[in-house]
Amino acid sequence: MSGVPALFLDRDGVINRERGEHTWREADFEVLPDVAEAIRRARSAGLLVVVITNQSGIGLGLYTHDHVARLHALLRGTLGHQGAELTAIYYCPHHPSRGKCLCRKPGGLLLERAMARYGIDPARSVMVGDRERDVVGEARSLGADGTGRSTGEVRQH
Ligand SMILES: [Zn+2]
Repeated sequence: MSGVPALFLDRDGVINRERGEHTWREADFEVLPDVAEAIRRARSAGLLVVVITNQSGIGLGLYTHDHVARLHALLRGTLGHQGAELTAIYYCPHHPSRGKCLCRKPGGLLLERAMARYGIDPARSVMVGDRERDVVGEARSLGADGTGRSTGEVRQH
């Protein structure tokens, strides 16, 4: 299957600082240094940049879809001002204590939806999760390469 390459990013702990608790207030949302540049480099290397995040606080009733929409508008604005445009943001609003869903990571539903929607080739894409904090290094290597060479498979965890 052919398609476009993408950089999939986790949100909490990759784009914004991990606080060890749910993050939905704008005041608690701190974009990590160099994230904008990493995204900009990925985009200029021809990759789409898609954020996929678990937001189980909605399922718990801690915050709402509106809170998430506001935060993501802020994020897009902040990054956009730095020339780092996000292609899309997908989130799972469910909490596992309230029943199983297929969209909560490591479930692959959101990933599949993004790949179908944007014609993404998983074999040419990379995923950066919050356990590999090296988002900058990953994206830099993509951008520095800049040849469109395959950069590895989509890793799910
Ligand atoms: Zn879900």
